[in-house]
Amino acid sequence: MVDVHLGTLARALRLLGFDTVYAQEMPDAAIAAVAEREERVVLTRDVGLLKHRKVQWGYWLRSQHTRPQLEEVIRRYDLKPWFQPFTRCTVCNGTLTEVPKEAVQERLPPKTKLYFHEFFQCASCRRVYWKGSHYDRMRTFLGQLE
Ligand SMILES: [Zn+2]
Repeated sequence: MVDVHLGTLARALRLLGFDTVYAQEMPDAAIAAVAEREERVVLTRDVGLLKHRKVQWGYWLRSQHTRPQLEEVIRRYDLKPWFQPFTRCTVCNGTLTEVPKEAVQERLPPKTKLYFHEFFQCASCRRVYWKGSHYDRMRTFLGQLE
């Protein structure tokens, strides 16, 4: 569970396949309640939130920037063996399933239709994903992790 102002971190974690709730416009008590009920780790820049008695697992992010934040979280929770790219929607946290090109082709930009053959769709918002330039950037980033 990722605190407000950390939306980019939330998207990055989803991209790696982690079930991530983005706590936008939620008071601390509500964040703590969801974290307790759904047994989630709270990631925040706000030390006060971590002192809430319902927050059982939490981590205070040192960095103010997404990339080092992501590195902190991966290191802290030893997440590297658990990466599952293309299993979560970066927008809504829904689960992705692989779909045949024919099922989504009318929704694809012309060049994507031409050059890509593997597609994934979100079960919740129906957004379509493919291994385009953002995927290459992510692979480069993952390759650089210790
Ligand atoms: Zn979605």
